[in-house]
Amino acid sequence: MTVVVRDLPKVELHCHLFGVLKPQMIRAIQQQMPDFPIGADELADLYPVDDFDSFWRWWQPIHRLRMSDPVFFHPILLMYIEQLKAQHVRYAEINIPTISVEQVQAMRQLADATETPDFQIEFIAAIGRQRPLDESRNAVDLAIDLFKEGLICGFMSVGDESARPIRDFAAEFDRIYSAGMGIEIHAGEWRGPESVWDAINYGHPQRIGHGVHAFEDDKLIAYLLDNNIHIEMCPTSNLLTGSIPDIEHHPLGQARDLGMSISINTDDPGVFSCDMNSEFRLSAEHFGFTEDDFQQVYAQSLAARFQPDLRIDPLAF
Ligand SMILES: [Zn+2]
Repeated sequence: MTVVVRDLPKVELHCHLFGVLKPQMIRAIQQQMPDFPIGADELADLYPVDDFDSFWRWWQPIHRLRMSDPVFFHPILLMYIEQLKAQHVRYAEINIPTISVEQVQAMRQLADATETPDFQIEFIAAIGRQRPLDESRNAVDLAIDLFKEGLICGFMSVGDESARPIRDFAAEFDRIYSAGMGIEIHAGEWRGPESVWDAINYGHPQRIGHGVHAFEDDKLIAYLLDNNIHIEMCPTSNLLTGSIPDIEHHPLGQARDLGMSISINTDDPGVFSCDMNSEFRLSAEHFGFTEDDFQQVYAQSLAARFQPDLRIDPLAF
């Protein structure tokens, strides 16, 4: 029986704010903000994104946005929240850039105004593995301040795993862990199981982002199961960045069959032209996810959230 995924309640734990941008979103923003730092045609020229190189090319103009006035981030957040609501996402944790307490407060106020008894939005800060280490220290200082102010609930390590192991950031992750923040590490995305072991040994992760290559190591899978480490699955992302050769090689179905704690996510819906509905449809079509499976994913995703204060009804599936 085909599952109608559109109306199912959903949780998104793995999505980067700038990765939601699309040319048509930029055109809409430019109606209000003609100075928006990226052109719609400039971004349109960076598609298709269908391998590792085209993926990283897409991010090049985003660096300009990252360095711009954070007021430009506001319409992106609000438009994405509208999209989440339209897809029946009930709870989402969005990775935002590590900007000042005042600037994140402004974004938090915008998010608060969109919340309903059926919709909760949370923020996560991040460091990129390819950034210089002293920059990471500053990012962690700021993240701890943001966390103490109740503005973010967790911390992510993002970027190309080949750039640097988590071992190099161990002192920073110790500080994040001691502060009580939830930790997610993107690992096993393009590198093998050793990258996930590195994350576990040095980063205190409660969640692994992607983790597709973890499934090549039975001991690692046993460890993840025994320690209830959650895996954030992003199947379309993994296909289009070349971390798997084809969708049948994705471990999503295997993870469900093993009883692992998993979520289904978009990662960068603007980059990959996907959304939560398309990821759910893919899960049903290629891996036979049933409504019961999606209900299980919903419960597991909520249980793996970093924000203890749940403001929606967890049972309303
Ligand atoms: Zn990601």
